[in-house]
Amino acid sequence: MTETGKSSLFPTYTRYPITLVKGEGSRLWDDTGKEYIDLMSGIAVTNLGHAPQAVKEKLVEQLDQLWHVSNLFHIPNQEKLATLLTDNSCADAVFFCSTGAEANEAAIKLARRYSQKVLNNGRYEIITFNMSFHGRTLATLTATGQDKVKEGFHPLPGGFVYAPYNDIDAVRSLVNDTTCAIMLEMVQGEGGVLPADPEFVKQIAELCKQENLLLIVDEIQTGIGRTGKLFAYEHYGVEPDIFTLAKGLGGGFPIGAMLGKAHLAEAFSAGSHGSTFGGTPIATAAAHAALDTIISEKLSERAAELGEYTVKKLESKLAGNPLIAKIRGVGLLIGIECTQPAGEIISEIHKQGVLVIPAGPNVIRLVPALTIPQADLDQALDVVCDVLSQK
Ligand code: PLP
Repeated sequence: MTETGKSSLFPTYTRYPITLVKGEGSRLWDDTGKEYIDLMSGIAVTNLGHAPQAVKEKLVEQLDQLWHVSNLFHIPNQEKLATLLTDNSCADAVFFCSTGAEANEAAIKLARRYSQKVLNNGRYEIITFNMSFHGRTLATLTATGQDKVKEGFHPLPGGFVYAPYNDIDAVRSLVNDTTCAIMLEMVQGEGGVLPADPEFVKQIAELCKQENLLLIVDEIQTGIGRTGKLFAYEHYGVEPDIFTLAKGLGGGFPIGAMLGKAHLAEAFSAGSHGSTFGGTPIATAAAHAALDTIISEKLSERAAELGEYTVKKLESKLAGNPLIAKIRGVGLLIGIECTQPAGEIISEIHKQGVLVIPAGPNVIRLVPALTIPQADLDQALDVVCDVLSQK
């Protein structure tokens, strides 16, 4: 924004009237010096808080060594991060990129290519879900089950159909001889913090086995400890064939990843997919430090405990409040569903020095860092509850 109030940016975001200039742990400061407690983590990105020491040290070390080469060379940091990811997940192979949408594009391409080049069955159609969110590129906004992200962008790529979430019969009725995969979030984050039913996920996994379909899980918002497990699929006792990561993977540094089972790896060959910035020495150094910290400091477990604590505290402080329809959460991905649009309430919470975000029109979403100090969490929850009680 210039001094005259004019911006040279495309207006793709409605921005809050706050300019943040510094962050440390779970605290942020704006350009007037006002301090905030962060319950949004840059939308589930800064899972270790702002400027985490472990990531900063590795980044500084790597900045002195090498920033970027090309994926035409071996990159040891990439191999190290891929091994850490595969050692701690059901996947055997990793493709690195820079964003969540790019990771989902890779997943969609891998599912189609596996069907068309390995299974040779010519299949291409992917079943996704109403209210899902998978990104803003043409394929991922088409995969997304929300019409508003598609307006004005037609013609859209073909090959996607949509089922109501948690409705196995509807999914079954959409499977045909062109279906190659089912793609879902274990908790729909943007859609309103809506968890998948355990029985539904089990039936989806069985359906995929029966019909020889690939199960793609979008863990971009739910992954990296956010839901109380390193990956949300672990709550359900199923193993996806493919899953995608971004947001929290780099501890605040941009990086995405598409991970898959060993038998899928042969579907991609040299030149079939790529990304100039995918897995640079710097990005993979940051992500390795972030993931190593999450695992070694047992931060997924901490997210599970703090999440349970948060939901209980909100439920007891907001009991009987007519503004509250439902409070739900999985780990530290928590939604307070209101009985009216939440925009004004969120602005008031911001004014009181706590940063939260919406999920859909009526839900206040809380996604604090997994490292948030207990005292900061308590102070911020008191503010949220006070604002809700005064409205
Ligand atoms: N998938 C899910 C579940 C997301 O929540 C998001 C972002 O909010 C994306 C994909 C897209 O990620 P990115 O904005 O990094 O492209």
